[in-house]
Amino acid sequence: MHVLRIEKLTKIYKLAGHTFTALSALDLSIEQGEVFGFLGPNGAGKTTTIKILVNLIFPTSGKAWIFGDDCSLPEARRRIGFLPEMPMFYDYLTLEELLRFGGETAGLSKALIKTRIDHLLVLLDMERARNLRIRKFSKGMQQRAGLAYALMGDPDVLILDEPMSGLDPIGRKDFVDLIRKLKAEGKTIFFSSHVLSDIENLCDRVGILVKGELKKVGNVSELLRAEDGFLVRVSGLDGGGKEYLEQLGVHVSVDGNALSLRVTRDKVMDVMDIIKARKASIASIDTMRKSLEDIFMEVVQQNQSSVSPTPSSPHA
Ligand code: ATP
Repeated sequence: MHVLRIEKLTKIYKLAGHTFTALSALDLSIEQGEVFGFLGPNGAGKTTTIKILVNLIFPTSGKAWIFGDDCSLPEARRRIGFLPEMPMFYDYLTLEELLRFGGETAGLSKALIKTRIDHLLVLLDMERARNLRIRKFSKGMQQRAGLAYALMGDPDVLILDEPMSGLDPIGRKDFVDLIRKLKAEGKTIFFSSHVLSDIENLCDRVGILVKGELKKVGNVSELLRAEDGFLVRVSGLDGGGKEYLEQLGVHVSVDGNALSLRVTRDKVMDVMDIIKARKASIASIDTMRKSLEDIFMEVVQQNQSSVSPTPSSPHA
């Protein structure tokens, strides 16, 4: 059974007589134990999706299920822990008081609340902050307190909205380490982000949402491997060779007297055949590896002209 299943989820906001489609027929499934990065630029519809999943707003059409239960049902919510984009706590509470409150609202016994607080404070490395008021917390500590609160009910799936925004590099590293620990505990984690550093090494799969539409989804290592390739500089490739390569889907640019070809792995043999047949000569070959950030920027750029691309970096 899928942990999360989303089918044709659509959200149309109505504002002052106008309609705006924030989410358009989203289909997505998340498996047990996965860390899934839900990526997209500002305004892509990530928060809208998450708010529907945790039943804060209703979809215009389509459906979502959590462990097979419609996400609007209390049964579905019992199995999720949710960290909103900007968690607001009553900041006169100490961390322990906040977590006790979380345990009580989740209906836990006093003994279980104590055990769980002790476990979470160690897991999140927050033992020293146990009796500190939330108002004294840094942004990173507030984020971890929010995560601890979301974990009080020992949920099977964590849904986190932009958990890394506003964190400095150390805070982001702490977050990545923490997500790894939670994955090791068997949790499924679905989080939105437009901070791409670290995601490549953290997520099992990612989905890229642009203007409410899911433009790419897949296993991170497979996505990266599919985009791997070679940067080949060739001279003497005349007689329509450039056009022929472009028809094959190879990106060709003029580089002085030579042509610079970006060749993905699947096209290497075809390209070599063309070079040989035209008796062109190869000046250099470098391996080329795209990062998740390159892929993200390409997908966003193809669908949203205001974002500038990040070129992929060749490595010798
Ligand atoms: P960000 O990364 O900036 O948080 P996001 O991907 O989470 O963005 P959403 O917050 O889901 O995007 O917003 C998607 C679109 O829907 C945006 O254009 C936003 O302005 C619009 N929107 C969100 N909430 C409402 C609302 N209540 N009424 C009208 N439009 C809304």
